[in-house]
Amino acid sequence: MRFARLLLLPLIVIGTLSGCAVNMADIHGFNVISLEQEKELGTKFAAEIEKQYPVYNDPEAQKYVDRLGRRLLTGAREVSFDYVFKVVKDDSVNAFAIPGGRLYVHTGLLKAAQSETEVAAVMAHEISHAVARHGTRQMTQQYGYSLVLSLVLGQNSNMLAQIAGELFGKAGMMSYSRDYENQADFLGVETMSKAGYNPQGMVSFFQKLDTMGQQNPSALTKFFSSHPLTSERIQRVQAEIAQLPPRTYPPVDNTDLQKIRARIK
Ligand SMILES: [Zn+2]
Repeated sequence: MRFARLLLLPLIVIGTLSGCAVNMADIHGFNVISLEQEKELGTKFAAEIEKQYPVYNDPEAQKYVDRLGRRLLTGAREVSFDYVFKVVKDDSVNAFAIPGGRLYVHTGLLKAAQSETEVAAVMAHEISHAVARHGTRQMTQQYGYSLVLSLVLGQNSNMLAQIAGELFGKAGMMSYSRDYENQADFLGVETMSKAGYNPQGMVSFFQKLDTMGQQNPSALTKFFSSHPLTSERIQRVQAEIAQLPPRTYPPVDNTDLQKIRARIK
């Protein structure tokens, strides 16, 4: 009995983690907003967001995040949108995805990251929010279908500006449910690995940012105010990495990132 119990305990732990993984793999949750509608909404939101976040005027940096993004998409479960990757001028360490496959990387993230894998880790997490269409799913829960539909149809431009700002603007804070965050980590790990980036970089970069935030709370990153780093989160990501088929990752060339970082400074 006792022996059985001892055996059972690790099984329960593994079962709980992999049990999550089964649901985590389901990217087609209920969504009343169609893909076409989401694309439409993404275009409208982008116009608002880019009023608040000036796009960083450096073609090399723009090309760089585009290249990273496209490489990561090769590891994504599904690519339903024409993805757009842009760098915006903002010193906080963050990246965010708005509906319709549009991703924004802050200059602050490029400055804080010391390797391409670290940038890829945050981008893979954000791409996963887009792949699983968390933005429109969360919005319909939060604001209701008819309001979101009226934004898609362009019936309410004041409301559109307000909601785009509330969720994704400078002062805004899209706050996904914990399930969505866990799923974005799960899919992010998988995406990194399939695209040839060592997902261990996600754990180490999160830990590094956590230390940065503790040493200098005023510089606490926006990423972590919307993505709290808990030991449970780290453990979960590590368990997911452990379940991946073993593989050797190609060395990462950080030359381009270093050049861009030098220019941002
Ligand atoms: Zn997230």
